Amino acid sequence: MSVAERPTLWMNADLHCHSVVSDGTLQPEALAARAKANGVELWALTDHDEIGGQARAQSAAHAAGLAYLTGTEISVTFAGETVHIVGLGFDPENAELREGLARTRGGRQERAREMAESLAQAGIRGAYEGALKYVGNPDLISRTHFARFLVETGVCRDTNEVFRKYLTDGKPGFVPHRWANLGDAVRWIRGAGGQAVIAHPGRYKFTPTEEYALFSEFKAHGGAGVEVVTGSHGAADVLKYTEMAQEFGLAASRGSDFHSPEESRCDLGRLPDLPAPLTPIWDLLTDRVQAPA
Ligand code: AMP
Ligand code: MN
Ligand code: MN
Ligand code: MN
Repeated sequence: MSVAERPTLWMNADLHCHSVVSDGTLQPEALAARAKANGVELWALTDHDEIGGQARAQSAAHAAGLAYLTGTEISVTFAGETVHIVGLGFDPENAELREGLARTRGGRQERAREMAESLAQAGIRGAYEGALKYVGNPDLISRTHFARFLVETGVCRDTNEVFRKYLTDGKPGFVPHRWANLGDAVRWIRGAGGQAVIAHPGRYKFTPTEEYALFSEFKAHGGAGVEVVTGSHGAADVLKYTEMAQEFGLAASRGSDFHSPEESRCDLGRLPDLPAPLTPIWDLLTDRVQAPA
């Protein structure tokens, strides 16, 4: 039976993870093999603001017998905060999407130099060069690469401690950055034939009013889904975003947000099922799923 024909709510879908093409530590091929070993049936690689790993991920998925959806995770600025929008099932050759992602990536180099200056003022030298050692894609230097440097040099024990003490609003190394606009990100994804999903909503520090505005505007722009089950959600988050998905008429997505065997608490495919009342986002993407050969 094909992916499109079977009842899918309890399918082991993992539609959120990162490779060395952004801030993960594994190659797309190693992620595909790990997903397969962990029982994943439908997979998407969702590198930050970048689709350079899609062709490799897709062929590795097929070699491993996994169904595949194209993916990316777009950085958006909304109400002064960074929000992540996952795009799934788009045409990776779409020119407007490619240009939008390239524009969103632009400015990461300069931001990284400013982050290093801010860390130097706090007494931590050489952070730019130190972070670069961990960067697989020079366009995609991210806070995660700085976090690895701060762990390597013993400034912090692990990346969780880094994000408590550094690199976040009000802490050394934080540089506010203007990412894509919410409406643009959703339009790029939809224009390329895909569906847009609000990533890990439980992680944002919004007031209830701001969160309501995010969901309303996302829906009004044509956004289709929300990550209900994701590596950073506890049981209370799953319950809350199940209700929000129903209230806003959004489908639900499921993704580990796996970055690295050493750093990620949630491994590929090792997630609870989507709660029963929800429509899985992959039900809206059956014609975009690339079935294994
Ligand atoms: P950037 O896109 O450069 O702002 O970096 C954001 C990335 O930093 C995220 O995609 C995560 O990989 C990582 N990150 C952000 N906050 C945390 C956190 N609290 N704990 C661990 N990693 C985090
Ligand atoms: Mn990341
Ligand atoms: Mn994210
Ligand atoms: Mn992510």
